[in-house]
Amino acid sequence: MAKTKSLFVCRECGADSPKWIGKCPSCGSWNTYVEELKITKPINSRYDGLSNKEATKPLSFDKIQSESLTRIATGISEFDRILGGGIVPGGFILLGGEPGIGKSTLALQLALNSRKKVLYVSGEENASQIKMRAGRIGPLNNECLIYNETLLEDIIAQFNNEKPSLLIIDSIQTIYTGLAEPAPGSVTQVRECAAQLLRIAKESSVPVLIIGHITKDGLLAGPKILEHIVDTVVQFEGDQHLDFRILRTLKNRFGAVPELAIFEMDQSGLHQVLNPSGYFLHQNENNLSGVAAACTLDGIKPLLVETQALVSSSAYGTPQRTATGFDYKRLNMLLAVLEKKAGMNVSNKDVFLNIAGGMKIQDTAADLAIIAAIVSSRTDQPVNQTICCCAEISLTGELRPVNKIEHRIEEAQKLGFTKFVVSAYHKNMPLNYKGIEIQKASSINDALKLIFRGNS
Ligand SMILES: [Zn+2]
Repeated sequence: MAKTKSLFVCRECGADSPKWIGKCPSCGSWNTYVEELKITKPINSRYDGLSNKEATKPLSFDKIQSESLTRIATGISEFDRILGGGIVPGGFILLGGEPGIGKSTLALQLALNSRKKVLYVSGEENASQIKMRAGRIGPLNNECLIYNETLLEDIIAQFNNEKPSLLIIDSIQTIYTGLAEPAPGSVTQVRECAAQLLRIAKESSVPVLIIGHITKDGLLAGPKILEHIVDTVVQFEGDQHLDFRILRTLKNRFGAVPELAIFEMDQSGLHQVLNPSGYFLHQNENNLSGVAAACTLDGIKPLLVETQALVSSSAYGTPQRTATGFDYKRLNMLLAVLEKKAGMNVSNKDVFLNIAGGMKIQDTAADLAIIAAIVSSRTDQPVNQTICCCAEISLTGELRPVNKIEHRIEEAQKLGFTKFVVSAYHKNMPLNYKGIEIQKASSINDALKLIFRGNS
């Protein structure tokens, strides 16, 4: 047993300190320090005499295997796509999300669909529960081995025994190594187990997929620590009470980020939604105010989403601003631009912004739609449902061009939009699209005139 001493560790980022501190100097989180026993001897050091010198040798380019040729298809094409074309041998993947959102279901589907030998280690459910769930998902595959174990050393022994093509750990928070003192799920355990699994993945070239829970209160060791260790992070977003799930790559050493896939969830598991656009649009027949359609792009797929705003008189001295699915600071910036450049008084108003369907938008192309939704709610004039807005707003109140505009227009056209408002600064943009009129504006004022023209 390695020597241990007491230490305080940040749950969020894994930084440590000999004393308890309120605010983490490394990641800025508050009240995240917990006392743990720290291993003083580095147990995963390659200098511990266990290192296999034969396995690591410098190679010339002609001896290095090309990665694209060796990727493993999982049988779920959308999952393969967001990984950049399948799982890379020796890849270390973290599948994150809140409990109950579908992580185990997806992992089990991967195990059943891949038609390869998979070792599915579960510390969450017992084997018969997993069999029941697998039975609902699809035909049982005897290549998939279920192993109920939480001690990492035993898992590694079975891994070496069975030599699977994929190792799945459900979940990283339930397993523990006998080499470290604290309880499973603690920062030290999560970090040590992940480090050992990483070594296994790299040395055996067998991909390892680990499931990591995120809780809203952050009680379990957060996958933020894991993000640094793994090659790829895919995370479920959205509300677990809705029928669909959004799966997003947040980090990927072997592909582009962000990529996004939409799945529909029912009793028989997760089903890919190959054409997700329109999924987040709600056709409101009464043409209500405070709603505008945006065309965002995650990775290569454009996605049409509904932005919703509610502007109301502030009951308190300080107006409230809430943003769900959108950056709060950017909302404040947009409100300031609206006030200063379009002369619309919002400083004494409460503003609530929501992106429909639990989507999280990072694409600034949604700026104009958000502005339109806010103005629509503020003035109680609906935005015509045939209009799609797609431009970034700058601090000067100008409309900035966005990338891949042709893709976005085509997507909006497919969904039956007839007007598409873009920045006038797009260069070499084809203007003739069948059935959809491209409307160019250079400033926020021009754009608002175009969007609300039919109403006045
Ligand atoms: Zn921290």
